[in-house]
Amino acid sequence: MHRFFLNPNQILDGAVTFPEGLSRQIRKVLRLDIKKDAVIVLDNSGWEYFVQLDGNKGNQVLGHIIDRQEGRAQPSVELTLCYSQTRREKIEWILQKGTELGVAKFQPFISSRSLAQSLQPNSARRDRLEAIMREASEQSQRSKLPLLEAGCDFETMLQLTQDRSLRLIAWEGTALVRMVDMETIKPLSEHDSKSIVLVVGPEGGFSSEEVELAEKYGYQQISLGNRILRTETACIAGTAILRNLSDSLFG
Ligand code: SAH
Repeated sequence: MHRFFLNPNQILDGAVTFPEGLSRQIRKVLRLDIKKDAVIVLDNSGWEYFVQLDGNKGNQVLGHIIDRQEGRAQPSVELTLCYSQTRREKIEWILQKGTELGVAKFQPFISSRSLAQSLQPNSARRDRLEAIMREASEQSQRSKLPLLEAGCDFETMLQLTQDRSLRLIAWEGTALVRMVDMETIKPLSEHDSKSIVLVVGPEGGFSSEEVELAEKYGYQQISLGNRILRTETACIAGTAILRNLSDSLFG
């Protein structure tokens, strides 16, 4: 059954009004019978609403809630992925795959070797990135959307993530850097609210000063294997490994 995230203000006393763009998709692309079919609507509360479609009013499809159930539970370990600003198609890929893999928060940053030095996307760009995360959340049947934080510089990013229980920086430096494994994650069992932040560097890598600064902010260096991954590959590989390890340990 098709699933759609809507703004809570489009759901009022059980009545659902689908925005025009989505209404067009429902009628023209998905070709649903707007008098008979039903869909699942989510309002990012964690609940899933079963909605019977009731036709349309102007260009907006209408419906009403006939039932609700709790959506998939959030993972007990919240994962934040900090990625370096880079080319738009790489950012879109990181957001889509990271959303599918259960990233709760994305934190873009600029470091000394970041390809892109622009901190904030314009509103049209931001809308597109939000749409990518929304569609990936619908496709992967998440019950809550990830957050895309405002871009910031490298040290601000380190400061903003101080409240995460486990802080990891992916570093392809020397063989001395340890592989991320169960031992990396185990200390989370001492924390009631469990959260991990993973920082991945730009195409040009991190400067040694940046890695030292991260260490001052309590970041541990981790290896993702003995090959050099592209920044977008490291984002996804690191996220998948941490998601898998933390879900298998803590659910
Ligand atoms: N310095 C690299 C380019 C950076 S790769 C080179 O010589 O080509 C981009 C980012 O991906 C790095 O900053 C690092 O955060 C991450 N990364 C890539 N391969 C990695 C590995 N094997 N282990 C840990 N992190 C890695």
